[in-house]
Amino acid sequence: MILVTGGAGYIGSHAVKELVKSGHRVVVLDNLSTGHRAAVDKKAIFCPGDLHDLKFIHDIFGEYPIELVMHFAAHSIVPQSMQEPLLSYRNLNCTINLLEAMLKAGVRKLVFSSTAAVYGEPLETPIPENHPLKPTNPYGQSKAWIEAILEQLHRANGLDYISLRYFNAAGADPEGELGEEHHPETHLIPIILKAALQGEEVSVFGSDYPTKDGTPVRDYIHVSDLISAHLLAMEALLQGRKQREIYNLGHQRGYSVLEVIDAARQVTGLDIPYRMADRRPGDPSTLVASSAKIKAELGWEPRYSDLQTIIATAWEWVRQHPRGYA
Ligand code: UDP
Repeated sequence: MILVTGGAGYIGSHAVKELVKSGHRVVVLDNLSTGHRAAVDKKAIFCPGDLHDLKFIHDIFGEYPIELVMHFAAHSIVPQSMQEPLLSYRNLNCTINLLEAMLKAGVRKLVFSSTAAVYGEPLETPIPENHPLKPTNPYGQSKAWIEAILEQLHRANGLDYISLRYFNAAGADPEGELGEEHHPETHLIPIILKAALQGEEVSVFGSDYPTKDGTPVRDYIHVSDLISAHLLAMEALLQGRKQREIYNLGHQRGYSVLEVIDAARQVTGLDIPYRMADRRPGDPSTLVASSAKIKAELGWEPRYSDLQTIIATAWEWVRQHPRGYA
């Protein structure tokens, strides 16, 4: 059985769907602070509760024969983390509770959701996994510290883990059942699509970065491709082929904010107005992944991560679900 923390969230819910589809029994732990009950696949066992509650987590491991954990649950919004750093640092408390319960129950396999934000401002692009870690925001710092903890537990307690450093997850389930819904929404692609739908203006945060057009450059990866990497990582751990690895997950192509707006105009056929605004604190100028390592070692191949497909699937979700999961 696989335990998925944060399985009602944007990325976690896509993982649960794929796990169920591939025949796994899945337990979902989520406090629904940002997730949606309706996003959880009906074939999964849903345990509403909080990772701050150590007894609750121990009880889950006592009740279900968990073999491996996928740990998505986290406070992951960069602007929030700049305003309220302790929100991000609570990711540490929650993860430590989870790890404590795992080790006590003898569960020693983990797929961990990390982030490109661990790198900070890159010294080279595309960024390889051995690039120094110098996060520019508390969110990235919290994930970098957790990665350090995982490494120590690997050595001291035999915890096997794969840490996946996501670049910019975007897009929606190609079957149209799941999508991205955050309150408030801070991510670029859903903001652009909402603006397209409602005739609003997009604020472009920063036009004086050292990039091709002055706006920040990101590497957008389709959520379904992220999830296929999780399944490969899971198999590698369960079969004992891997004990400890860190992989970037990106598409190795960078798009500026203006290029994303342009692509969204093409996909939607709508004029999407924008205005230049100040930089958003904590944002690096460019984050583009080298994904060579996971391709070579786990045979991962992104299928949906060209920008048009990412935006088209997200657009389909927004149009079909203008009120989200409500
Ligand atoms: N961004 C923007 N306007 C918005 C939201 C985001 O210009 O309304 C920019 C943001 O500054 C960043 C990029 O879009 O450079 C991607 O932001 P997002 O929040 O989607 O992901 P992040 O890279 O922060 O994880």
